[in-house]
Amino acid sequence: MPLQCGLNFKEFQEEKLRDHRSRSEIASRVRPRRCPYCGQHEVMRIHSWCPRYVIDEENASWRLLVPVFVCTECHVHIRVLPLECHAHCNHLSPTIRSMVLSWIRNGRHVRSLRIDQRLQRHWVRRFLLRLQSSCYSLGTDLEDALSKLPSFSFLFHNGYKTLMQDCIGYCIPSSQRIFSFDVCLGPG
Ligand SMILES: [Zn+2]
Repeated sequence: MPLQCGLNFKEFQEEKLRDHRSRSEIASRVRPRRCPYCGQHEVMRIHSWCPRYVIDEENASWRLLVPVFVCTECHVHIRVLPLECHAHCNHLSPTIRSMVLSWIRNGRHVRSLRIDQRLQRHWVRRFLLRLQSSCYSLGTDLEDALSKLPSFSFLFHNGYKTLMQDCIGYCIPSSQRIFSFDVCLGPG
């Protein structure tokens, strides 16, 4: 279950996070102030770092380390992702956004050796599903709607809610099934 922070993916490069001090600094910048499940303040502690690959707009791969926090009250584990990362996708959001935008403007997918058209179709479908399921008021102008959605939230993921941090209700009973969701923590 990922949260989204406001830091650029390059801050999470594995080679920048080799020493304990660098990891501590990043962890303190992205640590959620309160648990999104039980709502308690100052209970999220760093648990581990998990490797993750992303692909940038030049098709270069980057190996990142993503922090995993654990709530000391309800014991839920939460990954905090860089600003440009989607929960289930290795491509960064500027790449996906530019492909969806091209489809909106030209009515067809980009001929690209780097990004398969099936993948582009998948992104467009996910974007259209996001509009159908969105809690935002987005109107009918697709390009305008795309520009209004935060980068972490313009693709739909089944079973995930996409919320800004301020929208969290903090009232999920512990006995209720926990659903994953994406939350933007804002600039670090
Ligand atoms: Zn908790």
